[in-house]
Amino acid sequence: MATKRDYYEVLGVDRNASQDDIKTAYRKLAKECHPDLNPNDKTAEERFKELNEANAVLSDPEKREKYDRFGKDGLNTGGFDMDGFGGFGGFGGFGSIFDELFGGAGAGGSRRASRPMAGNSLRFSLKVSFEEAAFGAKKSFDFTREENCATCTGTGAEPGTKSETCHVCNGTGQVRSSGGFMVTVRTCTNCGGTGQVIKHRCKDCSGTGRVQKKRTATVNIPAGIDNGQVVVMQGQGESGFRGGPPGDLQIVVNVMPHKLFKRNGADLLLNMPISFTQAALGANIDVPLLKGSIKYNIPEGTQSGAKFRIKGEGIQRLNSKTKGDLILTVTVETPKRLSEKQKELLREFEKSLSGKEYQQSESFLDKVKSIFS
Ligand SMILES: [Zn+2]
Ligand SMILES: [Zn+2]
Repeated sequence: MATKRDYYEVLGVDRNASQDDIKTAYRKLAKECHPDLNPNDKTAEERFKELNEANAVLSDPEKREKYDRFGKDGLNTGGFDMDGFGGFGGFGGFGSIFDELFGGAGAGGSRRASRPMAGNSLRFSLKVSFEEAAFGAKKSFDFTREENCATCTGTGAEPGTKSETCHVCNGTGQVRSSGGFMVTVRTCTNCGGTGQVIKHRCKDCSGTGRVQKKRTATVNIPAGIDNGQVVVMQGQGESGFRGGPPGDLQIVVNVMPHKLFKRNGADLLLNMPISFTQAALGANIDVPLLKGSIKYNIPEGTQSGAKFRIKGEGIQRLNSKTKGDLILTVTVETPKRLSEKQKELLREFEKSLSGKEYQQSESFLDKVKSIFS
């Protein structure tokens, strides 16, 4: 992969050229044959690679000295990773002419400075009523998200000015240094790894290119959603970076409790008191629903705590037309504050009992007898 030509010849400088001369020559030539400006031109691409290789050596005093003394062999035996230059390829549309200068060489992270990146997704908890969760609802809420600054279109530079390529890292966002056999790559501190330095900062975003914006979103809460489930609003999160896609809004649904009902998935749970005469004689009772009510026949002899499953009167299943059931649990209430006449009637009633009417207490008594006999 390494070029056959002499590095000084490639850059068109003489052997005594200063570091500045080398840098100037390199920039000038790199611009001329940058693959972005010469699409599908193999010769330009080859020259560009050749230039980068030459520059990487000659711009580094230590490598340059080795090269001067031993030629390219000196570099190979000196631990300089020539393979690193084999990694060019896939030139895409890059903003900065220098973005890709060291692309593929070594640590492989040098494209980071200019690569589009997705925006952050934001997560919010949203309170919805029990009924809203059951029937679905449209809910609006305010939130703050980070967006690209409209004034500078996210560049961070005052309108009419441009950010400049960082001179420390030549726009790569990374600084490479070699000591012996090691090549270390670290994030450029001058530009914070962006590869660009802003001379005139945009006043609206202080040069960050990003601003906090208050927004209102309207979310569709689907019927049947349950507590803790998440509704995703795609693309409504924070703006992407350098043309990357925006993040999402994730709405975590927080369903408020209901005064009467609880739910278990799509089943609606209701505890309802009935009188002991209703329990004993059976009754046609009004059972409330989330909307309206239904009539239901409680059979005679109903015990306290008995459960009845009323088909299809529960909550709509998420993303389905079917509904769960209503699970009705009845509690038999013992009357309080009885009048003297009512008490008399009950005493009469008690006297009339033959004992067979209370099956549970009968079997209870049998058990007690078996313990003490
Ligand atoms: Zn701005
Ligand atoms: Zn830099």
